[in-house]
Amino acid sequence: MSFVSEFNSLPVQSLVQKSLSAGLAAGRESLAKPKPSLADFANLISPAAAELLEPLGRRSHTLTQQRFGKVIRLFAPLYISNECINNCQYCGFSRDNPILRVTLSLDEVRQEAQALKGQGFRNILLVAGEHPKFVSVNYLKDCVAALHADWPSISLEVGPMETEDYRPLVGAGADGLVVYQETYDRKVYADMHTGGPKRNFDWRLETPERAYAAGFRRLGISPLYGLADWRYEAICVAAHADYLLRNCWKAQLTISLPRLRPCAGEFQPLTHMSDRDLAQLVCALRIMFPDVGLVLSTRESAKLRDGLIPLGVTMMSAGSHTEPGGYTGAGRGKLHQTVRGRIVELGASEWASAPENATAATGQFEIADGRSSREVADLIRRLGYEPVWKDWDAALTA
Ligand code: SF4
Repeated sequence: MSFVSEFNSLPVQSLVQKSLSAGLAAGRESLAKPKPSLADFANLISPAAAELLEPLGRRSHTLTQQRFGKVIRLFAPLYISNECINNCQYCGFSRDNPILRVTLSLDEVRQEAQALKGQGFRNILLVAGEHPKFVSVNYLKDCVAALHADWPSISLEVGPMETEDYRPLVGAGADGLVVYQETYDRKVYADMHTGGPKRNFDWRLETPERAYAAGFRRLGISPLYGLADWRYEAICVAAHADYLLRNCWKAQLTISLPRLRPCAGEFQPLTHMSDRDLAQLVCALRIMFPDVGLVLSTRESAKLRDGLIPLGVTMMSAGSHTEPGGYTGAGRGKLHQTVRGRIVELGASEWASAPENATAATGQFEIADGRSSREVADLIRRLGYEPVWKDWDAALTA
C-alpha cells in the first residue's frame, strides 16, 4: 500500500481540530511521552503548547545532541536550469512568468560546482525546473556523472520521474532525492498548480517511494509553508515521514521547513506561519522523529537561522543562489526569455549590463540569509557546533 492510500484515510481535519482545542495539560502529557503518536504531535504543535516552547526546546535540544552530536551539516543548492513546463502560482520559475532562463551545459555545471567545492562544500543539491526537453533524464545523468568523482554526496531536486528513469541517476552517483509536496491540501494544491504534469497530486505524493525503489538512500520531503494552514501541513508531513520510516527504512530521511519567499510573479502567501510557530514545529518534529534530519535553508533570516540551530536543526544551506549560474556567472551568454512558455531571444544589451561573475538568469525566490558559507560556518562554530561539509557518516567516524 502506498502512502496515498494511507493519506486518504488519515483523519487530518480531526487532528487539526484536536490541536486547536488542546489544552496545556495535553501538551505537557504528550511532551512527557517517550514515543509520541501523531495525536501527541498534534498536541505539541497546538496553540496551547506554544506556552511550552522552553521545555519543548530543551527536549528537542537534548535529543538532537544525543542522535546527531554538535554538528550542522552544510550543503549548497546548484541550480542547473530554470526552465519549467509547470505553472505553480508561488514559484518564480512558473512557465507563464516572463523571466530570463537558461540551462547550464555540463562544463558550466562543473564550473559552478568547482566554485562551491572551493568554498568547502562536499554535499551538493542539483536543482532544476521540470522540462523534459531541457532537463531530460540523460542530461541529469550526465550532470551527476560529471560531478560524481568530486562530490561524495549528490542530491537532486527535479521534476518527479518513474522509478525506471531514476535508476540511471542512482547509477551515475546520485544518492539523495528531495521532493516537496508543496501542500498536502488537495484543494489548495489544485488551485496552486494550474498547468503542467505537476497537477497530479498523487503522482507527486508517491515520488519518494519510487525514488527509494530506484535506490536513492537519502529522501527529503516537505510542504511549502504559506499555502495551506501550517498545522494541517505539519500533521500531514509527520504522517508522511512516519510512513517512509516504516516502508523505506534503509533511507535517511530529512524534513525541510521552507516558508514562502518573494519571487517573480509576486505571489502572496495564503496563510501565515510566525517565527515562533516555526520554532515550535522544529521542536515537535524532533521530539516525534529523533533520527530525522531537519533542514533549514537560506529562505530564513540569519537571526532566525542562528536561533534555531540549538533547537534541533541538523542541516543548512549557506551562501546560496537560486538562479542557474549564480556562483560564477556560468550560462550568462545564452540567456533567453520565455513568454507563456515560448522562447524569445534577447538582444545583447538586455544582459550585457549584468555584473562580472554574476548571472542575469532569474532566481526561484529571494534569499533572506545572504551571508557567505564561511560566515555561516564561523557562526556555527561560535555557537559551539562543528560545521560539517560532508555527510553524517564521515562526520561521526572522523
Ligand atoms: S515549483 Fe518547481 S515545478 Fe513549479 S514552477 Fe517552480 S520549478 Fe517549476
